[in-house]
Amino acid sequence: SKKIVIIGAGGVGNVVVKKCAMNPASFSEIVLASRTLSKCDAIAAECAAIGLPTAVKTRQVDADNVPELVALFKEEKPFLVINVALPYQDLTIMDACLEAGVHYLDTANYEPKDVAKFEYSWQWAYQEKFKKAGLMALLGCGFDPGVTGVYTAYANKHYFDEMHYLDIIDCNAGDHGKAFATNFNPEINIREITQKGKYWENGEWIEIEPMSIHKPIDYPNIGPKESYVLYHEELESLTKNFPTLKRARFWMTFGQAYLTHLEVLQNVGMTSIAPIKFNGMDIVPLEFLKAVLPEPGTLGENYSGQTSIGCQIKGIKEGKEATYYVWNNCHHADCYKEVQAQGVSYTTGVPAMIGASLMIDGSWFTPGVFNVEEFNPDPFMELLNIHGLPWEEQHNITLPHEY
Ligand code: NDP
Repeated sequence: SKKIVIIGAGGVGNVVVKKCAMNPASFSEIVLASRTLSKCDAIAAECAAIGLPTAVKTRQVDADNVPELVALFKEEKPFLVINVALPYQDLTIMDACLEAGVHYLDTANYEPKDVAKFEYSWQWAYQEKFKKAGLMALLGCGFDPGVTGVYTAYANKHYFDEMHYLDIIDCNAGDHGKAFATNFNPEINIREITQKGKYWENGEWIEIEPMSIHKPIDYPNIGPKESYVLYHEELESLTKNFPTLKRARFWMTFGQAYLTHLEVLQNVGMTSIAPIKFNGMDIVPLEFLKAVLPEPGTLGENYSGQTSIGCQIKGIKEGKEATYYVWNNCHHADCYKEVQAQGVSYTTGVPAMIGASLMIDGSWFTPGVFNVEEFNPDPFMELLNIHGLPWEEQHNITLPHEY
């Protein structure tokens, strides 16, 4: 059991803190640090109010500032830092980890603030530095990326000699009752879905216009929902780590009302990340939009319906064609009851806690920088069933490109 620092007191941070505080066998001491101290204090107070066994200490930190982070780590001396702030902070936190000798875990790859560009290159470049320091960094340990990589590694280990086709399918069939809101940080979410789509086919990336490929996919216990091909960061590491894949795509559902709102916001320039002058001040329209939208962490109350995320795979086993589908369905209302969060924060926070616990008990521990699919998926799959994200599986399925 070890001490950890969690950075970021948003929707996901709330879940990670509470799930870690429920699990004293892995986490002996918990420090929650974020830009706004009052948000940390509110989460710590809720942990105490619901009677979680481990007390949560809070600290203020600007995670864009390496010396501030180093000072925090040197004072608190954690084994590991769980980064659930924003992707912009990944590199400063990794730099501080190297300087203070702390292991690292995050749920989203680094992104520079001024270009919407999702790729692992920046963080993979830390491989030698982490290895030399005897430190480990586990990248992308949320649900997608995260569990989707573990699912793929599990399929590869148990059910295929060679995987050929991978479709990651992500459905949120929930209703939060708001006209327009995003389920995780609006800035990051809108940057992700307004960029060009991209998928992997026969050794290269095929770029497509945003949202231009779509079809209804039938989700378990939900039914058919219109799903759109978009680029998602785990495709980069999965196609590298499983080079037999001939095609890998990522599909996500969007409701018509969401898309209409987004189209209007885009047409009027509100999703732009280029600064404009307003009353003599520089303003980034997308940052301003974030300020008027509901915070993801506040959507949980009265959120009904469920999410369903899984991997559909086709390949070869013992010379014969094989197919496999593994998924989790998660009810927003259950998440709210357990940790006062909506399903998207929950499905991200639980895997982060599980990844951290495996690094702590040594079952996932190698110095260097890694993606989740590079480790043995079995202990992770077991813990998903124990900690609130049980999975189901099915063989003999039809993949989206076949209907
Ligand atoms: P929120 O916007 O709800 O929370 C982000 C938190 O980070 C806020 O508390 C914010 O503080 C804090 N923060 C931002 N900048 C700094 C800084 N410079 N220093 C210190 N703290 C800072 O986002 P979410 O909780 O929804 O998402 C958190 C992360 O999880 C994101 O990186 C997101 O991309 C990732 N994610 C991953 C998923 C997956 O499946 N892999 C799915 C969903 C999210 P303040 O409140 O003061 O602004």
